Amino acid sequence: MTPDAPPRILGVHAHPDDESIWTGGTLARHAAAGGIVDTITCTWAAGTHRHAELVNALQKLGIDRPPRMLGYADGGVPESAPGTPKFVDAPFDEAVRAVVGHLRELRPHIVITYDAYGVYGHPDHIHAHRIALAAVEAAADPHLYIGTGSPWMVQSVYYVTIGQEQMAGGWDQLVAKTTDPATLPGTPPERIDVIEDVREWLPTKWQAIQAHQSEFNRSRTMKSMAALEPAALERLMGVESFQRRDLVGDGCSLS
Ligand SMILES: [Zn+2]
Repeated sequence: MTPDAPPRILGVHAHPDDESIWTGGTLARHAAAGGIVDTITCTWAAGTHRHAELVNALQKLGIDRPPRMLGYADGGVPESAPGTPKFVDAPFDEAVRAVVGHLRELRPHIVITYDAYGVYGHPDHIHAHRIALAAVEAAADPHLYIGTGSPWMVQSVYYVTIGQEQMAGGWDQLVAKTTDPATLPGTPPERIDVIEDVREWLPTKWQAIQAHQSEFNRSRTMKSMAALEPAALERLMGVESFQRRDLVGDGCSLS
């Protein structure tokens, strides 16, 4: 990276659509500024309809680099990756190795994944957090996963999170469809490090979310999202909140 070049960002997400819902504004802004953005999606195999929707969503965000698919099965959807274990049941070391290989090849300065609670307690999100962190550390160690490329040290990891205010302001209604509302406190302000105002990018982000067309037919969360008034959509989707963890020196800023 030359001093003025934007950092390379890698998003590690559990499902096709998470890249757009949680980080769509940040990624679109970065891509528009000429930054390189890559994504790893842990569930759904290449060639499935959700993979095609993901490629389309990334294009809406201005990202033409193909998503890296780990190819594990999505919880209750065996057809997401026929003959492959559920992501949460896959051998931990195997998934970490796969992510290490992508890290060493793509050499991102920043990795974005979920907070330790998977934003709202989703088991696949929690698992993606663990796999991503284990892989970030292992990728920098030359003794681990020999043969998957030269060691690479990520500078900062950002965890997607939802603040208390955002949670109580409507996110709880959206994600309560899949999670017990009592377990949705949101992250207190003192534990949030970065809040990106992405209102300018909201139309782009919303187009990317809508590219996950089949989810609007299936998911009650997506249907509720589509029914939001524009002001509510902006309040919930116009900011993207992160916890930041620097692994070297001053780390690397998102913007
Ligand atoms: Zn998800």
